[in-house]
Amino acid sequence: MREVYDVLIIGGGPAGLTAALYSGRAKLKTVVIERLGPGGQMATTEHVENYPGFPAGMNGVDLSLRMLEQAERFNARVVYDEVEKVELGGPIKAVHGSGGSYEARTVIVATGASPRKLGVPGEDKFIGAGVSYCATCDGALYSGKRVVVVGGADSAVEEASFLTRFAEQVTIVHRRDALRATPIIVERALGNPKITVMYDTVVEAIHGERVVTSVTVRNVRSNAVETIPIDGLFAYIGLIPNTRFLQEVLPMDQSGYLLANEHDLSTTEVGVFVAGDVRPKAFRQVATAVGDGALAASSAERYLSGVASHGR
Ligand code: NAP
Repeated sequence: MREVYDVLIIGGGPAGLTAALYSGRAKLKTVVIERLGPGGQMATTEHVENYPGFPAGMNGVDLSLRMLEQAERFNARVVYDEVEKVELGGPIKAVHGSGGSYEARTVIVATGASPRKLGVPGEDKFIGAGVSYCATCDGALYSGKRVVVVGGADSAVEEASFLTRFAEQVTIVHRRDALRATPIIVERALGNPKITVMYDTVVEAIHGERVVTSVTVRNVRSNAVETIPIDGLFAYIGLIPNTRFLQEVLPMDQSGYLLANEHDLSTTEVGVFVAGDVRPKAFRQVATAVGDGALAASSAERYLSGVASHGR
């Protein structure tokens, strides 16, 4: 007999795992399809210190595993597969991954967002050989070394501070004349003697043989170009929503973020909801993703019980 889930959640980050916790706890037959491992971007954060309930902060991987355990405790099932195609019309939706196909009465899209690339020569060539998008994953490889962090918002400045645990010298390269990260994050970084900032500066190319050895930067005001010797480059220049498989399936904004009704996170497809960083929003945090997950699961439950959320 074919298995039809009540709630199928695509993505196992904080939004997806919270949705799974709520729908599992509501005794709905729940599955999470996750392509890599639990936690999404949260799992690539060394120290999450603004999620309530953990006054000393919490390692991102540990928090991810706790959220997974809590969802599984209420019988949510997690399947590791990469979703490639969806059929969302009709009362039973079909989700096709590289490893199998799944059916469900409701779908919650919580696929989050991935790091944006710089798009400069050398970047692709040196991914894993000096170019990284995850200080938590790769920072320890740069013990006593010189690294550049590109970007001027929360991720870049926070991860620059984190990298000083290992690297001897961390240079933040930012295209504007001021950092726009949260003040407490900026204060911490600027007070760290290992960190310097190159303002009004963009990366033009990354060089090396087998691994990265230098980076060429340009001052956008003076147009002066210089090549700095480095061992590693970490890019934190924003995010791209993981929605490619949903093009022409669900409405998106110009950047590819999925549009949903703010009231209940429903979409134009009946029984399909959206949660977390994959939505256009002013503030992308674990706390806001978790709120979305709870709301989307509650809306799915209401839809299944015939109460509400019949699309936008
Ligand atoms: P973001 O807020 O989108 O910032 C991207 C940064 O990269 C900006 O400084 C931007 O410059 C720069 N940038 C964009 N495109 C660039 C390019 N092509 N070349 C050079 N620089 C470029 O991204 P994020 O820092 O990854 O943050 C994503 C979300 O997660 C945000 O909502 C953030 O608040 C949240 N977050 C929160 C925390 C925390 O609360 N502790 C930690 C990490 C992330 P401009 O300044 O010139 O636009």
